[in-house]
Order: sequence, then C-alpha cells, then structure tokens
Amino acid sequence: MKLFDSHCHLDDRIYDKDFKDVLSRADNAGVSGIMIVGVDKKSSAKAVTLAESKPGLYASVGFHPHDAKECSKEALEFLVKLAESPKVKAWGEIGLDFNRMYSPREDQERWFIKQIEIADELNLPLIFHERDSNGRFLEILEEHPKTGRKGVIHCFSGDEEKLERCLELNLYIGITGILTIKSRGAKLRNLAPLIPTDRILIETDAPYLTPAPEKNKTRRNEPAFVKSVLLKLAEVRGEEPGDLARVVYENTCRLYNI
Ligand SMILES: [Zn+2]
Ligand SMILES: [Zn+2]
Repeated sequence: MKLFDSHCHLDDRIYDKDFKDVLSRADNAGVSGIMIVGVDKKSSAKAVTLAESKPGLYASVGFHPHDAKECSKEALEFLVKLAESPKVKAWGEIGLDFNRMYSPREDQERWFIKQIEIADELNLPLIFHERDSNGRFLEILEEHPKTGRKGVIHCFSGDEEKLERCLELNLYIGITGILTIKSRGAKLRNLAPLIPTDRILIETDAPYLTPAPEKNKTRRNEPAFVKSVLLKLAEVRGEEPGDLARVVYENTCRLYNI
C-alpha cells in the first residue's frame, strides 16, 4: 500500500532527536510522500530545508492564523523567496481560527486574504486551516474566487452543509486521526462516506492528533500512523483499503502537482 501524509509538522523540535527513525518507520508503513507544512517564517524555512534533504519529502510555506499577529509584508516576502525551492508544492497553512484567538480577528483576516492573493500569483495550491470562524472562512473564499485555484481544507470538522460548501469551492477534504477517536470522531465517521472519492486526502497533522490504535503506545503522532487513518476511512466507507489508498494517493499528487 502506497500512502501520502498530506499534512504534518515534521519540522517540530520533537523530531530532532530521531528524525531518521521517524522516516524509516514511515517508509516501512508504505508512506512514500510527506508534506511538511509551515506555520510561520521559522517553521517554513525548516520545512524547506528538511524537504530538500530527502526524496519524497515536500514543503509548504505560510503563516498560520495563530501567528497572524507576527505576520508582515517582509515576512511574506521571505516566504515568497523560500517558495522558489522546487520542493515547495503549496502555500499554507493559512485561514481563520476563532477558537483559540491567538491573533486578533482583523490580523487573521487581513493576512489570510493577502496570502491567498500571493499563492494565486505563484500558482500554488493552498492548505487551509479553519476553526470556529462561523462561516467567515467560506465567505472570504467565496468573495475571492479564482478559476483553477486548488486547495485542501485540512483536518476537516463540521457538518454536512459545510462539507457541501467546501466541495462547491472545489476543495479537497483532509481527514485526520480524529476519525479513529471513539466519541470525538463520531460526527466525522458519519460524514466521511459522503465525500466523493476523488476529493479525499489523509493526513496525520503530526505531532498532534495521534490515531486511536497508536495512542496507547505513544503520545507523539508521526507520518507512519497515517495508515490507521486510511484503514478506518476504508472501513467507514465500506471500501477496499488498497483501492482507496491508490485513489487518495493520486488525489494528493494531483493537488500538490507532484
Ligand atoms: Zn491546522
Ligand atoms: Zn497543521
């Protein structure tokens, strides 16, 4: 089975000590593609350096809504420079997070819109993060349309209506290990069969959101565990894991132009 972890944070210091082991476990699990997602200047730069160090690793650059208060024109120019690397395949993660409110709403919205414009100019697909924006996230995307724009809403959460609006915006839907968590994943398990097969991505969002099967053994998530997401997804959709894995892998390559 060939798998792609479409979203993780391998730049996190938590992997500094055993980065090689993490990659070899991913390899053994069949994970041959890994997207390392930037959230600010420092993490984006490290993501690019790591991606350049090995085949199969890719990077995105961007400013997370949590960090929007530290964003600036100069910071974005720095990211544009980083995006010149052939290993940079996406812009993100960007979006809105009104749950934690680490950055004021005005900063989040301003830098979200600015980064959409930059990614559009560079023709890079977008990685979106959305939490509790009460429709504002979708509103902004609908107000700033562009033909041919590609993107994924990572760690999808929400109801059927939100899912439909995301699909109408041509977004891919990123499914994390939340799918495997008993009560927290119940809603997502009901929605997962409604996603068209050609729009599904799987991700770990490592080091966060460790899937249930691995959770008892280790707190830290890692790309190898994306296999648990795929297996649960196949189970709730009533599909053959190998078939689903093939389509999801192709979806990821199509989105990221790999
Ligand atoms: Zn996120
Ligand atoms: Zn993330």
